[in-house]
Amino acid sequence: MPFIDIDGNTVEYEVKKGRSRKYIYLRMKGDVVEIVLPDEHWLYLVDPRDVERIYRKSADKTQLLTANGFYFDGQWISGRDGESVLRRESGKYLDNAVKRLSDLMNVRPKGIRIVDTRYWGSCSAKGVLSFNFRIACLPGEMREYLVVHELAHLIHFSHSKLFWQTVEELCPRYKEIRKGLKKFRF
Ligand SMILES: [Zn+2]
Repeated sequence: MPFIDIDGNTVEYEVKKGRSRKYIYLRMKGDVVEIVLPDEHWLYLVDPRDVERIYRKSADKTQLLTANGFYFDGQWISGRDGESVLRRESGKYLDNAVKRLSDLMNVRPKGIRIVDTRYWGSCSAKGVLSFNFRIACLPGEMREYLVVHELAHLIHFSHSKLFWQTVEELCPRYKEIRKGLKKFRF
């Protein structure tokens, strides 16, 4: 597949023919920028600026959490400044979300930590929740799921059937969200 380089990341694109479209349109399909042409439109010279524009605009851009940096709020933040920005933003989000969701679930975590680990979240036997400092990069629905997941551990410590039922009550789309999370690499 053809590709361009954006901030050190290889971004693939694909040109396709649409069925009944009047205009060219570009969208993200997974990791790939898809350029869909109307039927009668045979010649199209790919403008890398178009590919880049769509790529940056897309919600999927958040899935790039590379060593060079990451997208946050539509802006590229280089790795060097990144951690402090993300820690602050993740902290703000978690303060609010943990309060709101723990009230709903009727649980009380013993503490919240923001950590740098290979996983998104964890819950200690003592009831202290830890979250990856990169959580602010994730789409809202995914962050929310991660908070619900860790709070649900205050009710069911293991990943039992009852645990997943509790998660599902607040997060009916949790299965899709878990799949989506696998796309985020760091
Ligand atoms: Zn868990």
